[in-house]
Amino acid sequence: MSSHFDIIIIGGGVNGASIAMALSQRSGANIGLFDRGGLGSGATGRSGAMIREHYLNSELVRMASDAKKFFEDWQANRDYDLKFRKTGRVLLFDQSDADAAIKNAEMNKSEGVNIEVLDKKTTSEILGEVCLDDIEVILYEPDAGYADSLRTTYAFAKEAQKNGTTIHTHTSVERILTKSDRVCGIDTSVGKFEAEKIINVSGPWVNKLLSPLGESLPVTPIRVQMVGLRRPPHMEHLEQIVVDHTSGAYFRTDGTPFTLVGGESEEDLREIVDPDSFGLNADHDFITRYWSRAINRFPSFKDATCRGGYGSLYDMTPDSNPILDKSSKIEGLYNVTGFSGHGFKLSPVIGEMVADMVMGTNHSRHDNNIFRESRFANGSGITAKYPYLKRAHQ
Ligand SMILES: Cc1cc2nc3c(=O)[nH]c(=O)nc-3n(C[C@H](O)[C@H](O)[C@H](O)COP(=O)(O)OP(=O)(O)OC[C@H]3O[C@@H](n4cnc5c(N)ncnc54)[C@H](O)[C@@H]3O)c2cc1C
Repeated sequence: MSSHFDIIIIGGGVNGASIAMALSQRSGANIGLFDRGGLGSGATGRSGAMIREHYLNSELVRMASDAKKFFEDWQANRDYDLKFRKTGRVLLFDQSDADAAIKNAEMNKSEGVNIEVLDKKTTSEILGEVCLDDIEVILYEPDAGYADSLRTTYAFAKEAQKNGTTIHTHTSVERILTKSDRVCGIDTSVGKFEAEKIINVSGPWVNKLLSPLGESLPVTPIRVQMVGLRRPPHMEHLEQIVVDHTSGAYFRTDGTPFTLVGGESEEDLREIVDPDSFGLNADHDFITRYWSRAINRFPSFKDATCRGGYGSLYDMTPDSNPILDKSSKIEGLYNVTGFSGHGFKLSPVIGEMVADMVMGTNHSRHDNNIFRESRFANGSGITAKYPYLKRAHQ
């Protein structure tokens, strides 16, 4: 077993795997990817894994569009199925967000996104029985859908492996090792490994590895929850993703009569936890609140069977966007974290962007600079021209 790598990646979630794939395709570097669990055992394995282009910032729209194209190309040209399925995605807004929704749809369209404004009649034809009394604006992204987050992570890791990357799962990185303010390796549960460059893609755990080095990023581990509802036979047709901006609930199906209901209202994005010890099952209170939000929008959910739910983590930053940056303290260390609940779909593009950052190349058309950590200190966080008032997390 080699104990020396040119580049070590800490974290085998979808972003760590994507970075390994991109770097191994582009460079002859000897890469080691480490995860303390299995691949995708962090947020990735519990992700909704929805793929959409609608964003409120044009750079993010372009990133999401390129990522969606990557998933389309993969599905069309490769044998290994990432289970990318286009279901369409319906977004519901009440009066308070109506103007912003229209303006954001126009901006998205100008970037080439297939997005349209629907009337209520068409929406009811698409969704079946749905209560739209309080809804002012409905947007529809027909090309949006979801993929399988674990299959995607394994596929990326396999590509990296084909290009020589060594993967160490169930290997905990205990410490990043430095010499004269430069990285020189890692200490793990199975011993030490040397490297000239280290990419820390450990999601909500990022500060656990950084704090012994005197570094800390504005990344907060927030517990989020999902509820599983088995739809009754008269709702089996409901395949579309629906995002209810009035209540913070979103609905994601998986090709079976099962809907995952996620919760992103402001009050549900406040539970700061220790990523090593948080509630993995959904709380009863959360389940009843979101089941009743589901019934308010789709009355037939009253006939659903609840199959419980689960808890997971967002690695939140103050502007809900990731950090892709060199360490401010340690030479050779790169931090890629803070995906704030929307990092699955972006992962193919993140891999390319981080490969550029680490190799000093310029292949990606996307700019790493807007994701620098310094944006939080100098007040240049990533903003939306037309934010949604009812749902700050976008
Ligand atoms: C409920 C939920 C729904 C979501 N829905 C969507 C969605 O629909 N669309 C979307 O785009 N995004 C979604 N996301 C967000 C998306 O899943 C994440 O942004 C993405 O998976 C993050 O991937 P990552 O590789 O950056 O981090 P993670 O998947 O968290 O991976 C970090 C890895 O680092 C490892 N690690 C940590 N510390 C160490 C250590 N010391 N040693 C070794 N390994 C270590 C962990 O084991 C983990 O596997 C959702 C997230 C959640 C929780």
